[in-house]
Amino acid sequence: MTGMTSDELLLKHPNLKVDSIDPGWVPVLDGLATEVKAKLLAHGLPADSATYVQVKEKFGALTCFVRAPIDVAGIVERARLRSLLTCETCGRFGRRRPGPWVKTLCDTCDERRGQPYPLTLIPSFRVETEAVPNDDDFVSVTLRHAVDGGEEACYAMRAHRDDIGLAVGALLYDAMLRPLKGDGA
Ligand SMILES: [Zn+2]
Repeated sequence: MTGMTSDELLLKHPNLKVDSIDPGWVPVLDGLATEVKAKLLAHGLPADSATYVQVKEKFGALTCFVRAPIDVAGIVERARLRSLLTCETCGRFGRRRPGPWVKTLCDTCDERRGQPYPLTLIPSFRVETEAVPNDDDFVSVTLRHAVDGGEEACYAMRAHRDDIGLAVGALLYDAMLRPLKGDGA
């Protein structure tokens, strides 16, 4: 966590308009605005030529609408994926928590909220990565683990190639959140 406050964030990126974001996601937004700026400059465009139409939290994910003279959809998607792995409250590794108010939280902040969710132990698993067609930046990450009767459970998500470790953590968490297939049968 950088320790950057939302005031410092808006000072660094004056064109960033944020409706309401908890402190844990400030570094995610800083990364988004920094990457957008760098891409604009690389194309010879003014660093502030992107318009942040909307930046908000929705169902535990950072939701951004950015208007820019070049394509920044990959950067926005990466920030969304990162937000799904970042505690909104404190910025540590987090996961989306089920409940009446879906939030992305770390274990500690989730416990503090008082609605902990039971986890199932996954004794062993394997991970496969696969290229995404026509996209050099993103890969498809799949986590597989054995369940009763020789069957296999499979969890997959798209992630930036620099975020594969985070994606594996997230998928493992998904697997642990759901009861093993065949349990109680
Ligand atoms: Zn937290």
